[in-house]
Amino acid sequence: MTDYDEKPVRFAKHGPDGELELPFPMNPIKLTESTRKIVCKVVNRVHMRKYTRFYAVGVYGGIATAYSVGCNYRCTFCWVDWSRDWPERYGDFYSPSEVYSKLRDIMNVQKLRRARVSGAEPTLCPEHICGILERVHQDAEAFDLFVIETNGVVIGTEDGLASRLAQYASREGDTVGHVRLSIRGGLPDPFMDKTGCSKEFLDLPFKAAQRLWDAGASFHVAVVVDPRFTSEEEKTIIYDRLNDIHPTVRRGVEEEFLDPYPHALVRLRAVGREDVTGREMNDKEVYARKRMPKNE
Ligand code: SF4
Repeated sequence: MTDYDEKPVRFAKHGPDGELELPFPMNPIKLTESTRKIVCKVVNRVHMRKYTRFYAVGVYGGIATAYSVGCNYRCTFCWVDWSRDWPERYGDFYSPSEVYSKLRDIMNVQKLRRARVSGAEPTLCPEHICGILERVHQDAEAFDLFVIETNGVVIGTEDGLASRLAQYASREGDTVGHVRLSIRGGLPDPFMDKTGCSKEFLDLPFKAAQRLWDAGASFHVAVVVDPRFTSEEEKTIIYDRLNDIHPTVRRGVEEEFLDPYPHALVRLRAVGREDVTGREMNDKEVYARKRMPKNE
């Protein structure tokens, strides 16, 4: 049992002294363990994962999306709904076959050739995500692209996952998988401020990038370069580290600027970011705040 089983990690808040309130900064490896107990389970040797919905959106030129539950980061600018912070309250369990079928149904109806697992951290349940990728791989002619969006904590921590993903997302060969790896920070303090993680875990996403590169995976790195969150100095450090892995990784960076989604506004106000939220709450923030689970 981890501390986080008894005292769940919700979203980061500053106390009256302007410092993070406990349990922040948190340990994302321990949070991986405790979140897995809630969102991953094995039934009759089938690896199930929690999802809240399946739908299509316009990004990537139109993509069927499985919205999974549970993450091991607590980004202050996170757009994901309260299922991130209260994973025990949201979602239903689906097998890899069921997720695959739902995505294929959406693709058929919407005439799409792209799909992804998003909404949280897809690698929390490695057997489950590999089960989906195996089905996609067997039906590869129906897909142009299958995207796994990850923060890299599990890939950087657990040996062998990068190689497993590379079987389905290879730089060479005819696989359709692709990993989108988010790197949130390059300096300890801003990394902690952005992700809610202790500074000592700063290197994990870079380790994930190195492992994906070494495994021959098809991947690119997304970096929040929005100046409200990342200074030029920090951006340069991130880019230099990616360049050290390989110039191709640096050249492939997707630069992210952040939209003020409703749940992000609540999270940002909780850590004193009125420079982003504004002093007054807008309707979107009020809506998200009303939907926040209450009984703690
Ligand atoms: S890694 Fe993504 S899903 Fe997880 S907290 Fe950060 S923004 Fe949200």
